[in-house]
This record gives sequence, C-alpha cells and structure tokens, in this order.
Amino acid sequence: MKLVIGHLYPRLMNMYADRGNVICLERRCRWRGIDVVVRGIHPGPLADAGDLDLLLIGGGQDREQLLASQDLFESKHAVLRSAIEDGLVVLAVCGGYQLFGEFYRDHTGAELRGIEALPAYTVHPGADRPRCIGNVITEWRGQKLVGFENHGGRTYLRDPASALARVVSGFGNNGEDGTEGAQRLNVYGTYLHGSLLPKNPAFADHLLGRALERRYGVTTLPPLDDALENAAHQRCLEVAGG
Ligand code: GLN
Repeated sequence: MKLVIGHLYPRLMNMYADRGNVICLERRCRWRGIDVVVRGIHPGPLADAGDLDLLLIGGGQDREQLLASQDLFESKHAVLRSAIEDGLVVLAVCGGYQLFGEFYRDHTGAELRGIEALPAYTVHPGADRPRCIGNVITEWRGQKLVGFENHGGRTYLRDPASALARVVSGFGNNGEDGTEGAQRLNVYGTYLHGSLLPKNPAFADHLLGRALERRYGVTTLPPLDDALENAAHQRCLEVAGG
C-alpha cells in the first residue's frame, strides 16, 4: 500500500511546528510498512488532486493567509473541492482551518474567501480584543485531544453537530459555545497546533484509517508502540489541568 500526502503551502502556512503533523503521518505509515510520498503543494496551478490521499495545511498569520486565500481561488479551488467531495482526507489547522470554511473576516473587516469545505465562518473581533491563546484539551469520540491554540479569529459553525470536539479547557472555536473544530466528510478543521498529531496518536491513526479505507478498503491498522507519544499526551493533560 502507498499513500500520497499533500502538504499545502508548507512555506506560507507553517506555524508552531504544524509540519510535525506531516512527519508524524509519514512515520506512522513507514513503521507499518506502508509507502508514503509527501508532496509540497505551493502557490501556482494545481492540475489534479485525484492521486492525493491526505492533504495538510497549517496555520499562518493574516498576511500569509491572504496570499494563500488568493491562490486557493485562482489556482486550486475547483480541483480541491472535487477531491474533497470524493473523500480526500484533509487536516486543516488554525489559519488553514479558517480558509477551509466559508470566509475569514480579519481585524480590519476585510474578508478572505474560504473554499467552503466546512460549514463554518470566522470573524476577528478587532485588534483591541484578546487573542485566544493557551493549552487546549478537548473531548473527541470519548477521548481527549491535547494541543496549543493561538488565534484572534472566532469561528462559528452553521450547525453545532459539525463540531469536531467539545472544549474541556481552553477556547476552541470561539470561547463561547464549547465547540472545537469542524468536520464534514473527511475534512477535519481544528485550532489545535502543537504539534497536534505526535501528541494525539489516536487522532493520527484515525486520519490514516480514513485514507486507507478510501483507497484500499482497509479499516484496521496494526498497533504501534506509542509509549513516548502517550507520555507526551499525558504530560500535556497535566500541564493544561485536564
Ligand atoms: N490569522 C489567524 C488568526 O489570528 C490564524 C492564526 C494562526 O494560524 N495561528 O485568527
């Protein structure tokens, strides 16, 4: 088996070690004897996304996000939307999450278009309002996810049922309604940096499982020795008070 991982805008959108998520998925495949190709996807034309199994995009500051938003519309919108409707697995973090929703209205009121893969929109309430910063713990499918968040934008879901997780501690989507992240089809949006996947191996395997199921009909993954990852996860829970 072989998986192709696309890393969208690795130079523009890479805050707080979001690249660690790509490395984590790559390693967890190789440890299981699954071949992996990681492809950087940069500004400019994207002819086809049909060969991609997973697509990752990290966070970025507003300036980088503006460039990414423009390029998404000029060069990638149609191709990515059709791959997403076909079940492409996407992990979009923070600024990337905002761009996979409907729009991001920045602190000046300017609106960046999202690609509408998730039923969510984001509004920055103004430069004088505090950012949402700190460790986060959420509850996802009966277990905890841990991470770190730092965002000015507040994200609101069109339908609360599309939340990825519930906030246990931290802000999550907007610090008001207890939701964190969003999911539609195989698209996962979240504010958790961290790196997210090395510290949450169950979530990493969940994403790999969705990709392997789509491509090969495989639904179970052989377990790995996650002692180190679980210790990091545990430590984060302790630090964040969960
Ligand atoms: N620019 C966005 C915000 O502040 C995203 C920040 C990020 O990706 N860390 O809301």
